[in-house]
Amino acid sequence: MITLKNVSKYYYSKGIIASGFTKINLTLNLGEFVAITGESGSGKSTLLNVISGLDSYEEGEMYIDGKETSHYTENDFENYRRKYISNIFQNFNLVNSYTVYQNIELVMLINGKTRREVKAKVLELIKKVGLTKYKNTKVSKLSGGQKQRVAIARALAKETPILIADEPTGNLDSTSAKEIIKLLHDISKDKLVIIVTHNYDQVEKYVTRKIKMHDGKILEDKVLKDTKKVTYHEEKKQNYLKVFEKFRLALRNTFNIFPKFILVLIVYLFVVSAVMMEYSFFKKQLFINETSGYNNFFQNKELTRIVIKKENKEAFTEEDYKQIKNIPHIKKIVPYDYLLDNVVYLHDENFFYYQGTINDISTLNKKKITYGTLPTKSDEILILGSPNDYALNSLGKEIIGKKVSIEMGNSSDMKKTYTITGLIYDEELKYNENGYIYGTQELVNDLKFVMNTSISQLKVLFQEEYHDSNSYDIHYKIIPNDKVKSGTCLISSDFNMTCKNETCKNYPLKIEVNNLYYQDNLELKVENTYDKKNIKTLLDDYDYDTYNGAIFINQSDYQRVFNKGNYQSSIFVDEVKNLDTVNDTLQKGNLKTLKIKDTLVTSGIVEALKIVRAIVTAILFITLFFIAYFVVRIILKSRNTYFGTIRILGTRCKDCKNLLEIELFTTSNIAYFTFILLLILNKNHILNLSILSNVINYLKLSDYILLYLACSLMSYLISLRFSRKIFKNSAMKTMREEV
Ligand code: ADP
Ligand code: MG
Repeated sequence: MITLKNVSKYYYSKGIIASGFTKINLTLNLGEFVAITGESGSGKSTLLNVISGLDSYEEGEMYIDGKETSHYTENDFENYRRKYISNIFQNFNLVNSYTVYQNIELVMLINGKTRREVKAKVLELIKKVGLTKYKNTKVSKLSGGQKQRVAIARALAKETPILIADEPTGNLDSTSAKEIIKLLHDISKDKLVIIVTHNYDQVEKYVTRKIKMHDGKILEDKVLKDTKKVTYHEEKKQNYLKVFEKFRLALRNTFNIFPKFILVLIVYLFVVSAVMMEYSFFKKQLFINETSGYNNFFQNKELTRIVIKKENKEAFTEEDYKQIKNIPHIKKIVPYDYLLDNVVYLHDENFFYYQGTINDISTLNKKKITYGTLPTKSDEILILGSPNDYALNSLGKEIIGKKVSIEMGNSSDMKKTYTITGLIYDEELKYNENGYIYGTQELVNDLKFVMNTSISQLKVLFQEEYHDSNSYDIHYKIIPNDKVKSGTCLISSDFNMTCKNETCKNYPLKIEVNNLYYQDNLELKVENTYDKKNIKTLLDDYDYDTYNGAIFINQSDYQRVFNKGNYQSSIFVDEVKNLDTVNDTLQKGNLKTLKIKDTLVTSGIVEALKIVRAIVTAILFITLFFIAYFVVRIILKSRNTYFGTIRILGTRCKDCKNLLEIELFTTSNIAYFTFILLLILNKNHILNLSILSNVINYLKLSDYILLYLACSLMSYLISLRFSRKIFKNSAMKTMREEV
């Protein structure tokens, strides 16, 4: 079966050549039970390692079934080992974190069997070595003798023709030793058993041949018993670890040493959270840079705001708002959004003065009112402001019941007097920020009316000539009055000069209204003309000298052109990251949109900052990779033994790498999803880690996917580097380094 012709083995280390053994000639056959003895350092182990294909040789030729092996590669020897050799070691080389059952199962899985196929066989082998009681016990808990029994069962499970045992009883007491030798003999029928021992007496009963070594040479080679000739039937088909079993083993490896799993998980969690936080910080910076610009048109520059108009320029209907409200991620709708951009002033006759924007009380989302109650009537208001604002602070509770007027920047005032019924302090507002004034829907409508009149351009078409009507000039100024009949108007008798027969009565007069949002017009008929004498009877309380030149129209006509629906509204998105999605949805619904974010002007420095930040992020990622790699390597150092063991058992390098990859990939996935779970808990306020808020606020689904891929890649690279390191050396060396 195995023939050595003048084979020598040398060790080179640090320039010194040591000889393992020299010019050995030997033929070993199936059916033999060979004992090798000799003093320590005589080359016994070296000889066994060469025969096992665990070590190379330098001189001579070794024949396996008549085939030369001097040209064999590492790979060829791996195949040879898988097919021919089972090793039993002095120090057992079992997987300590596996149970007895798992250790024996392992070698059969490696040889391409499935879990179901091997079950009966494994149990039978366990029974054979007398460990049925311990089948589910972790090997680390067994005694030396028991461990060696497991090793023997495992060697049997491999079903190879050659069994090589290097001092299998070296670590055992004499009773266990005797039992082990007997066991070896009992199971070794038709096999070639080579056993190295210090204690020849123990084996004497069974051996068929005795070889004595001294100083790297064979001193004595004596056949003690005749053995019958056994021929070896080579099994042609080679089977390797099945994919499914590979995953099962990798998962077992992930969890079976729990402290190791936790440590690696912590490292990966650290990596995942660092990557996530750094990336979200990067996004936040980008975002801040992009949005710290300036614009003149909008007072309210909240980044979540989108201004909308209908494509067909019509006013919004209730149905429109209902539909918009149904779009996901929309937090609130402000139907008349001019309110947002127009600061109004509250003041009383004394020194009270406060400024803010008007809001509909139904949009108030704070539940706790600091003082007072919610406004319910059209002349009641509530103030929401910073507790550090001077006006609010100095009055405190006293503010409730205060009567104020509302003044709007552009010379138009609200006519009524308003009562402050409630005050809310909002800690998040700064003392110099505009406050919020909440009123009823009616107040908002009143305001809208006043606003519309003040922002509209009015033109009067009379006698085929256009005349501007504005608030500075009394000529052609439009004044509503209840005494004028609807559809008619009263004009000054001064106009009569331009009309036929000096009377403009029944002449048509058209008023055109034009503003940002809409155009409208009123077609009226001149009902009468007023002069110094009749003005008091036609209209109440108007002084001719002051009002001469004005056009008086009916109150409801006036209302009709100014009390309009909403042509422009604003919506607010829940979070900035959803801005684009919502914007797209709105545009698909035939709306013209304007993201406030896009109206902000930015400077070129943003681009430069982007690049610097990207570089910093990249450097951090690389540093993290190396930190993670070295820590994982230290934690997984014990894996050297594991991989050395399974390679000696015949696992291909490729399968070992896969096992490691799957193990680390699983852990990195668990870390990633643990982090996601933390985010979810935080978002739902079950946890409260403010450190995670950036991640929640600035990352989108696509970022999560990207970062998932990045983390997976990182775990793959770590396992790649790690396996390159482990498998650079031969199986034996890998073992030796650790054992
Ligand atoms: P035994 O098993 O009979 O005690 P070994 O086969 O282990 O002896 O060793 C034989 C010789 O080879 C010894 O002189 C030992 O110093 C040398 N040797 C064994 N392994 C190595 C090694 N990895 N590197 C260098 N020399 C070695
Ligand atoms: Mg030895």
